[in-house]
Amino acid sequence: MLDAVQALKEKMVLACKVLQKQGVLDGYGHLSARLPGDRILSTPHMPPGKVALRDIIVIDMQGKKLEGSGEPNGETPMHTSIYKARSDVQCILHYHPDEVIAVSVASQGIKVVANCGVHFYRGTPIYDSPLLIRNHERGDKVAATLGDRNAVLLRGHGGTVVANDLDKLLRLGIDLVRSARIQIMTASLGPAKAHTQAECEEMAKGHDRPEVNRRFIDYYISEVVD
Ligand SMILES: [Zn+2]
Repeated sequence: MLDAVQALKEKMVLACKVLQKQGVLDGYGHLSARLPGDRILSTPHMPPGKVALRDIIVIDMQGKKLEGSGEPNGETPMHTSIYKARSDVQCILHYHPDEVIAVSVASQGIKVVANCGVHFYRGTPIYDSPLLIRNHERGDKVAATLGDRNAVLLRGHGGTVVANDLDKLLRLGIDLVRSARIQIMTASLGPAKAHTQAECEEMAKGHDRPEVNRRFIDYYISEVVD
């Protein structure tokens, strides 16, 4: 069990390094992963892209710290509320990329105008408040807005993606930002032809293949590992 926890921590740190290298993190944001026994691994109250293995903390489902020297993030209630509402969710990334904020304030969810957006074809609802998610009441509202989707946008604030493993989370974290960026670029070119529902459904079938994210993940990891 200890080895499994250690391996999970190492993957979290690597994911943070990749996201930092890709320029989608800033001094804020956080990444967490569920442990058995109602416990959660989390990056602490520090820039996630700068987190080392020793910095990862363990919190409980109320957001109280159980292990580690750092402190929980102010927006920890968003994580605990989502884990309580979604038993399928194993990891969560919350961040504040400019492109995601821009799309959210235009009251647009992610439009599937590129293949990287197909992950989000079931919708990316917008939590309609810029206030930080510092209490359980707001956390529960974000979880309710997310519903059964894999991403929620927070108006004027950022975005949160959820997944059942860290490879998938990393892919969603990168592809949400890229999708928002292409959507913004497309907006200046006149009417855009979005993927149809049928096209999205056909492409999404491939998302369940084993190791479907391997090449994607290996590429980005190779950018941060010597
Ligand atoms: Zn935030």
